[in-house]
Amino acid sequence: MHSILPWLTLTLLMVIVMLSMVLQRTRRDCVRHKQAEAWQELAALAFETAEAMFVTDRRGIIQRVNPAFTRLTGYTAAEAIGQNPSLLQSGRHDAAFYAALWRDLFVEGRWAGEIWNRRKNGEIYPEWASITAVRDDTGEIIHFVASFFDLSKQKAAEEALHRLAHYDPLTQLPNRRLFFEHLNTAQAAARRGAYHGAVLFVDLDDFRRISDARGHETGDRLIQEVAVRLTRFLRSEDIVAHLGGDRFAVLLIKLADSEESAIRFARGVAEKIRLALSMPIQQQDNTYVLGASIGITLFSGQEKTADEPLKQAETALHQAQSAGRNAVRFFEAAMQTEVETRMALEGEMRRAIERNELRLYLQPQVDREGYIIGAEVLLRWQHPERGLVPPDHFIPLAEETGLIIAMGEWVLLEICRLLARLTAAGQPLRLAVNVSPRQFRQPHFAIRVRAALAATRADPAWLTLEVTEGLAIEDLKGTIAILSELKALGLHLSIDDFGTGYSSLAYLSRMPIDELKIDKSFLRGVPDDSRSAALVEAILAVARHLRLSVVAEGVETIEQAAFLKACECGYSQGYLYGRPEPVETFLQSTLPAKRLPIGSS
Ligand code: C2E
Ligand code: CA
Ligand code: CA
Repeated sequence: MHSILPWLTLTLLMVIVMLSMVLQRTRRDCVRHKQAEAWQELAALAFETAEAMFVTDRRGIIQRVNPAFTRLTGYTAAEAIGQNPSLLQSGRHDAAFYAALWRDLFVEGRWAGEIWNRRKNGEIYPEWASITAVRDDTGEIIHFVASFFDLSKQKAAEEALHRLAHYDPLTQLPNRRLFFEHLNTAQAAARRGAYHGAVLFVDLDDFRRISDARGHETGDRLIQEVAVRLTRFLRSEDIVAHLGGDRFAVLLIKLADSEESAIRFARGVAEKIRLALSMPIQQQDNTYVLGASIGITLFSGQEKTADEPLKQAETALHQAQSAGRNAVRFFEAAMQTEVETRMALEGEMRRAIERNELRLYLQPQVDREGYIIGAEVLLRWQHPERGLVPPDHFIPLAEETGLIIAMGEWVLLEICRLLARLTAAGQPLRLAVNVSPRQFRQPHFAIRVRAALAATRADPAWLTLEVTEGLAIEDLKGTIAILSELKALGLHLSIDDFGTGYSSLAYLSRMPIDELKIDKSFLRGVPDDSRSAALVEAILAVARHLRLSVVAEGVETIEQAAFLKACECGYSQGYLYGRPEPVETFLQSTLPAKRLPIGSS
């Protein structure tokens, strides 16, 4: 790495010094005298290099220095000559270091390496030094020639590079890479010492929302404040790292010998972190209160892979987050199994569409007289080993992973085909399809629906899309825009599970919808529980006021049916009228009945 230039200069200088010595001895020789002078001039010239140099006698007393020496060390020639080079010693190296240096010089004739020296002004600096012993004809050492150059700049650059590779520029905390280095060392130490350490994975709740609303600069400043708080109260040997975004990792190096104590300590630290972060942060004119979810795992150096503790802590973090956030969770092996099952399910779900394992079921919807006016389309997964998987077991995961978009598209296309087929057979039927929030929010959803209708030539008048009321709360304006686009296609829109999403009447009145579906949880207590009954009546009144039709879901008993009829509820759906059935079964046996017998008194 260090250039060979110092060596060349040094070698040249030595040759010159030796030659001049030889030549001096033959000074009497007149012919050569002039040549000797020339050599000496050359030696003096070589001594003028940019590198600092000095020459000592055999005892190590400085005899000559060059101007670069003065520039580097601050000592003039007058100050240095006659002194021992220990004048430059920084005190950073021990006696053994100097002993090794002298041994090399006597045995090998040279020494080179990094050395910390002290300038006249007291400043300590690193330098690269090369020292060579100069011998006479008999082999006796008569001089030492040292040349050296300042390494401060290189050192600073190296350090800057190291910082860049190992520290996060925003918080100045160790980054993921350095965290892993520390973790590996800590694992090895824990194994040797037979004690436990812990990894805490900290994730700020709702940080993205604040950062989106207030801008990245505010977000950055909050992260910096969190970094300061996290470091402030931890022991100096513990490591806090910024993993990126709003995620931090804490490494508690030596907690305790016993697992119980280690768990207790780690939990204590986690609670302290939560407390520290929950103190309001003042940023300009605003006050922010941050919550944090924390996943913890212990390590003892027995782990299979080096990154296992961080992964386990992350798994525990996910558990903390799904437990409602602002919580602390310890990693347990059972969590791992759950994660693995989920991952396996996700992989299988990806293949479900290709392998044609998805099935469509239809459940009848009836009017006040019990006549079938349509059906809701309900998805099932015919799994090769698990059997018929209900949607509650896979739709949430499909929603999370985004697979719901492909699934929803498949359902829509199948149903449009079915609609076209029924219309062609002169038996059109109103079909209601569930649309998940993620599917609804995908770019150009309305255009995709139009494409499905066009491709199958299905009549949109027979199609209803069921969306959840939560969409309105998240982003009313955006939701209204998409609903209007859909409405313009000529289809119907229904709000599913109505009453569970806390949407206000004001929201509801602004949405271009046709229908409300009363959630089955409201029907459960009807008619005996007066509160439930009152709620259903209220929803029906709202719907009447807004001129929306209503489908009551989960109708299981004749009493419920009678109550709904008395309240003039338009449509009903529930086990009383029929369970969801495969499309072909529905078309062959349920639909021909037309008027379902029970509940139509
Ligand atoms: P949902 O839209 O509220 O569907 C109604 C659920 O209530 C269905 O469950 C249905 O079988 C059940 N149900 C109907 N009548 C009764 C009754 O009288 N009593 C009781 N206790 N339950 C009744 P299912 O089929 O298991 O579907 C569950 C949820 O899965 C659906 O709730 C819907 O949110 C979702 N889902 C189903 N198919 C799809 C789909 O194609 N796409 C999307 N995005 N979600 C779907
Ligand atoms: Ca539904
Ligand atoms: Ca529902």
